[in-house]
Formats: sequence, structure tokens, C-alpha cells
Amino acid sequence: MSTGTINVTADNIFPIIKKFLYSDHEIFLRELVSNAVDATQKLKTLTRIGESSAELGDLTIEVKVDKKKKTITVSDRGIGMTQEEIDKYINQLAFSGAEEFVQKYKEKADGAAIIGHFGLGFYSSFMVAEKVEIISKSHAEGSEAAHWVCEGNPEFELKAGKKEDRGTDIVLHISEEEKSFLEEAKIRELLNKYCKFLPVPIKFGEKEITEKTGEGEEAKEVKKKVDDIINNPEPAWTKSPNNLKEEDYNAFYRELYPMTFEDPLFHIHLNVDYPFDLTGILFFPRLKPNMELQRNKIQLYQNQVFVTDNLEGIVPDFLTLLHGVIDSKDIPLNVSRSYLQSDGAVKKISGHITKKVADKLDELFKKDRKDFESKWKDVKVIIEYGMLSEEKFNERAKKFALYQNVQEAFFTFDEYLEKVKDLQTDKDGNLVLLYAANKDAQHSFIARAEDKGYDVLLMDSPLTGHLLQRLEGGEQKVKFARVDSDSIEKLIPKEEEQPSLLSEEQKEKLKPIIEGAVQKEKYTVQMEALDSAENPFIITVPEFMRRMKEMSMTGGGGMMGMGELPEMYNLVVNTNHPLAAKVLEEGDEKAQQALIKEGVELAMLSQNLLHGKPLTEFVKKQFERMG
Ligand code: ADP
Repeated sequence: MSTGTINVTADNIFPIIKKFLYSDHEIFLRELVSNAVDATQKLKTLTRIGESSAELGDLTIEVKVDKKKKTITVSDRGIGMTQEEIDKYINQLAFSGAEEFVQKYKEKADGAAIIGHFGLGFYSSFMVAEKVEIISKSHAEGSEAAHWVCEGNPEFELKAGKKEDRGTDIVLHISEEEKSFLEEAKIRELLNKYCKFLPVPIKFGEKEITEKTGEGEEAKEVKKKVDDIINNPEPAWTKSPNNLKEEDYNAFYRELYPMTFEDPLFHIHLNVDYPFDLTGILFFPRLKPNMELQRNKIQLYQNQVFVTDNLEGIVPDFLTLLHGVIDSKDIPLNVSRSYLQSDGAVKKISGHITKKVADKLDELFKKDRKDFESKWKDVKVIIEYGMLSEEKFNERAKKFALYQNVQEAFFTFDEYLEKVKDLQTDKDGNLVLLYAANKDAQHSFIARAEDKGYDVLLMDSPLTGHLLQRLEGGEQKVKFARVDSDSIEKLIPKEEEQPSLLSEEQKEKLKPIIEGAVQKEKYTVQMEALDSAENPFIITVPEFMRRMKEMSMTGGGGMMGMGELPEMYNLVVNTNHPLAAKVLEEGDEKAQQALIKEGVELAMLSQNLLHGKPLTEFVKKQFERMG
């Protein structure tokens, strides 16, 4: 037996472990089970290359909770350790970086960032245990079992132990204040969180299953107890995409999100080994338009060990709306968020994933455009958000981002420009793209545009304002105009002037009469010689004003809903409509006002602006006229 002092150059590391890792106490279980997995994998490698003659046998790792004894035990049948190895790996090496650790923690007070860095994984057990024992027997032939005991201070005891079988038992004597970890449900929850996809089977207690035996008359069901294996050692992302079918991906999706009943739209299987290691499967979820966008759905793994499900700052924001798993050996375990975000490997991975997502979308678009179009509605928010927030993605998205017109046909942006450029180029050479935000609400304006042979896009996403700005910025002389932002003749002005039925003098006379009949603060009156087929009164909202208002409501690239219409409108009076002349001819001022009022009310009605009392009175008046 030997006793000694753990090689700590700093005074005492234990108070630091206990104090600074407070919020993450639960990771001790991940650390111990990961070590058990490593020890198992190492043994497999050694036997494969002929450096160990051990019989592998059943390699299941077992986690046990003994509430009476207040212990948690993690047992593996891996390589095990001799006394010398425990001395080397646990007593000395683990703390080799301790001095640096303390230096760093002083500067940053970021204990979590450092613990993984200096291989303190095993020592995280002292966050929850007042005493830890290692009982281990090496795989090497003729090895003696070893027994290490440490009570949360730099003194340890190392002696010969009693253990028949190869492998390691780590026994944690849980301290009083951490006794919640002695609840079976708690440990099950943690195993499910951190160990669900570890590559070696992990047993936690037993479960009852019903087995069918015999056939026909003899058939009966028997209940029996079997090991409860909590993990799937071969999750889909570790397999080759060639060996997986659509059903397998969908089944994996439900394995990840047991509470989700819908299948994802499509998946992206990531599989890279150069210049860094990266595997994973990302899913495009079906986004419900009015549902809270779900973040924290992608899970980050390192070698099948769960790291985090908060990828904010680790992958571009728009990708946090995807679901799935990312796994990379190059991701540091046990480090803080700020450290992860600044890590070089993590940054490269983020850029790479963005590229892969774009490639996949491009591939889907090319392979089956109809199918891609049918899914567009569900994916567009994510794609549009990506286009607005990631320049690289925006570049790539030009090939597959779709624009739908009110006739429900889809175009890429280039295809669309080609389609409308002949008819919709105005006299100054601007290509004007007309759009509507709501097919029903803006129907009369859409109908007028279509009468002229123009096409109207449907742009109804919460990001429309930002998107238009971006598209206009990218292309020479391309301008977006919502169909109801002016009369159609004004939206796409052409060379040929409309002859005016009213003289300048008549127009000047009419304008103040109309101004006198409407609310001044709300309406700016515009006299225009439009097509006589155009309505006499049209209420419009200038494009610029509406866009500013909308964008201020969604914030800089934010995801909130559309704003309301602003309270300022243009009242366009078509001086070529017979009604204009009729107003002038009306001798009686009262009759003039009544005519204008009714005209404006009709214009309001067609813009869905007539509500409340004015609407009630309007309807009543019309009925009276009928009767
Ligand atoms: P890390 O796992 O980051 O190296 P740890 O402090 O968790 O740091 O473990 C230190 C070392 O102790 C490991 O590298 C390994 O050599 C040894 N070790 C820990 N747990 C086991 C185990 N269950 N079986 C065999 N060796 C182990």
C-alpha cells in the first residue's frame, strides 16, 4: 500500500472544482461513462492489433445507483489500470496542467473552459462525491487488481485491490448536498441526455419485457426481466448514407425527438474527414407558420458524446432552426460557450455546414424541381433568413431560392427577371417587379396589373421587406413595388402619356373640393390622368413608407410579424374617370361632398380600410338606396 500527495502545484484544486463548476455538476456522469467507453475502445483496438490477448466477452458498461450506500458506480470491462498506471494517469498526469489552470482561472474566472483542457474529466466526480474509489484490474496477463481511494483532498491511498474480472469500477460516495443524484430517475435522465448514442452498450438496471413463446395452441406471453440498455451504440449518423433509406432517417428523427410526430421534410447527411472530421445528419423540419420557431434542436456531439444543444454562435443563426446532430472529434469537450465559439475548428465547421446545406438544397432543386417547389413554403423562412444573414449562403442560394407569383408558378430570381423584363421595364429603364402581400386583400390591384399583362409576385414572408432591399441592392435597376403602392400607370410609367379628359383648370378646381371632403391628416390627394378603366378613387400606401414601417417592426433581420399599415395614405383621383367630371358638374356643394365621400368609402372598402361605425353607416346607406 502506498499513500501520497496528488501532484498539484497549486495549493488545492478541489475547492476550485467544487466552486467553479457549480452549474455543470451533472457532467461528472458524462465524464465517467466517456472514460469507460474510451477504456473499452482501447481494449478493442489492442486486441485487434494483437497487443492484447484478452477475451473481449460482453463489453457492456454498467451504471448502478445504490441509494442506501449512497453510491453511484460506473463499471467497464475495458483495459483497466495497474497500480502504476493509476499513479501515472490519475495521480500525476491529470494535474500536469494544474498551475496553468489556476493562472487561467484567475484571469477569466471560467472554470469550465479549463477543466476539459487539462484532462480533469475524472476529477469532476469530486463535484458530487466526498469520496471516490477506483477498483481496477488491467487487461495485461497476470495483473493484480488495484484500489485507489481519495476523499476530495490531495491525499490519496493506493493499494492492492480485490477484483476478479478485468476492467474498472469507479465508485462515487455522493455527498449530502448532492444526494439528488442518487435518484434513479435523475441518473436515467442524465444518461439519456449525455450517453444516448455512445458507441458501447450501457446498462442501467433492468426492465420487464413481454416475450411470445410457442405457436398456435401453445402460444403464450411471458414477462421477463432483461438488461435495460439505455443507448443506441450505432446511431444513423455513424453509418454510411448508402446503407440508409428514407425510413431510417425518419426513424432516427423520432429517436432524437420522441415527442415529434411529423416526419422531417428532408435530411442532409454530413460526412467529412478532411480537412477536419465531421459527421452528422441535419433535418429540415416542417415549420408551422404561426408556431414559435424552435431553436436548440440541433445536438452537438464529440465522438458520440453529447456536448450541447445550444448552438447559438457555433453555427450561423439561421441553421439553428434546423434539427439533427453534428458530431466532430475536433470539438473540444467540457469547454464554455465562449471558448467553443472562438475555437478554430468550430468556426471552420460552421462555414462548412453552411456550404453543405446550400449544396444539398441545390441538389434537391436540380433533381426534382416539382418536389422542391412543393416544399418551398415550409423551408422558405429558413432559406430567406440565411440569405439575409450569411453572404456566402446568399451567393449560393441564388440558384435555388424561389419566388412564387400570384398564379402559383415558381421562378428563380433570374428566371423571373427574364420573364417580366420586356413588359415591366419602365420609361427610365427600371425593371419594376410587382408584388402583393395578400392575394385577397390586394385583389383589385392585382387584377388591374394583370389586365395590363403584368405579373405579380406573392411576397408574404415576415422577412419580405429585408429581402426586397437585398434583391434591389444586388441587381442593376431592379425595383420592387407592391401593387397597392400607387396606380398601376404610376408604378410602371411608360412613354405614352394618357390624354387628360379634364383641363388643367378643371383639375385645379377639383382638387380642393376633394381635399375638403376627406380627412387631411390621413390622405394626400393626387390628381392623375389614368386609364378610364381604372377606378376613380384609389387609396395607396407609398412603397417606401410601408417598407420602412414594416422593417422597423421586424427589426434588423428579426423574425417577428408584419407591422400594421401606416396611418398615412395617398388618395389617387383618376381625372379620366367620368365620375371626376360628374363631381365638377354637380352644382350643389352638399351633393358634391356626398359623391366624394361615397367614392372614397368604396376605395377604402377595396383596401380593407373601412371598419367600425363608418362601415356600418356605409352599409346602411346602400341598403336604404336599394329599398
Ligand atoms: P482524460 O479522459 O481527458 O484523459 P481523465 O481525468 O478523465 O482525463 O482520465 C485520466 C486518465 O485516466 C485517462 O486518460 C485514462 O488513461 C485513465 N482512465 C480514466 N478512467 C479510466 C477507465 N475507466 N479505465 C481505464 N483507464 C481510465
